[in-house]
Amino acid sequence: KQSTSESLLIVLNHAAEYFHQMLKETDEGRSVGLSYFRERGFNEKIINEFGLGYSLDKWDGLYKEALQKGYQEEYLDKAGLIIKKEEKAYDRFRGRVMFPIHNVSGKVIAFGGRVIKLDPSKKQPKYVNSPETEVYHKSKILYGIYQAKQAIRQFDECYLVEGYTDVISMHMSDVANVVASSGTSLTDEQIRLISRYTKNITVLFDGDAAGIKAAMRGIDMILEKGLNVKVLVFPEGEDPDSYSQKLGTEEFKKFLKENATDFVSYKLKIYSEEAKVSPQAKADSIKAIVESIAKIPDPIKRTVYTQQAATHLNVDEDLLIAEENKLIIQKR
Ligand code: ATP
Ligand code: MN
Ligand code: MN
Ligand code: MN
Repeated sequence: KQSTSESLLIVLNHAAEYFHQMLKETDEGRSVGLSYFRERGFNEKIINEFGLGYSLDKWDGLYKEALQKGYQEEYLDKAGLIIKKEEKAYDRFRGRVMFPIHNVSGKVIAFGGRVIKLDPSKKQPKYVNSPETEVYHKSKILYGIYQAKQAIRQFDECYLVEGYTDVISMHMSDVANVVASSGTSLTDEQIRLISRYTKNITVLFDGDAAGIKAAMRGIDMILEKGLNVKVLVFPEGEDPDSYSQKLGTEEFKKFLKENATDFVSYKLKIYSEEAKVSPQAKADSIKAIVESIAKIPDPIKRTVYTQQAATHLNVDEDLLIAEENKLIIQKR
């Protein structure tokens, strides 16, 4: 007999095939979903590679079809595909382009669905995601890991981005070693997942306040796990998707190479403008950098970064070491 998890994977696989088929083989799917993807620059090959789809703009598209095919309501519900309210049940995803989320072995475990047009007068969210289920724990998975893992190993590096479309556009720009945290803040389990393939992570976050904040937090979490971290925050208003489409493949790859900086330089850059003029800002930036360095478990690496920070900040190395040691002792 099948376990519940196995049953969920079967119904989720069916849903992915159904959404993909709706995208390609219905008038609504083609005129709404497919043209949306085309406008975003997604081609046939990438649509197939990521199994993208479309959910019809009605209450019981998948629900009805799946029941007809003999899938049980109980599993549609437990897979997060339908919403049950009292006696009624209806599709969770309606009138949205669909991004299946795969586990490491390529099985569909959840979906993200994006509205076609954000209507500011309605309160609908831009993305709807599957709820937590028996097979989907969002803190443990990264979007795109299945499509990226081979390239992550090959290049011994992983780019970490925020969104589904960032992952897909980067693949189209010939950068396949990329995964997304999908809007949730980075977790230890997600870092551990990447560390199965590489110890080198480059954080590519949106050029907005939320992106910078997430990058800062991400840096420290990655350092704590003993991994190497580089950072690149995009120009204001840009994200890896918009910017890669703007620059084109070669320019974008060059941009990544030339602008990824180690975390010390990054934190310096964030604080440096003010640091030049204000002693308080300089003190703040010293504190921020010391806090990060103190999180590095390896003492040799710590020494290297401390020397670098001392040079950049033009302060005595021993001062930094003393401050680091205070934090390290506190932690024990
Ligand atoms: P797009 O380019 O389609 O507008 P994006 O990926 O740039 O999407 P962001 O607003 O930068 O969107 O958000 C990053 C990620 O956060 C999204 O890809 C999605 O996974 C998640 N997200 C965004 N908005 C929501 C929401 N309202 N509910 C749940 N998740 C969301
Ligand atoms: Mn953003
Ligand atoms: Mn974005
Ligand atoms: Mn975007």
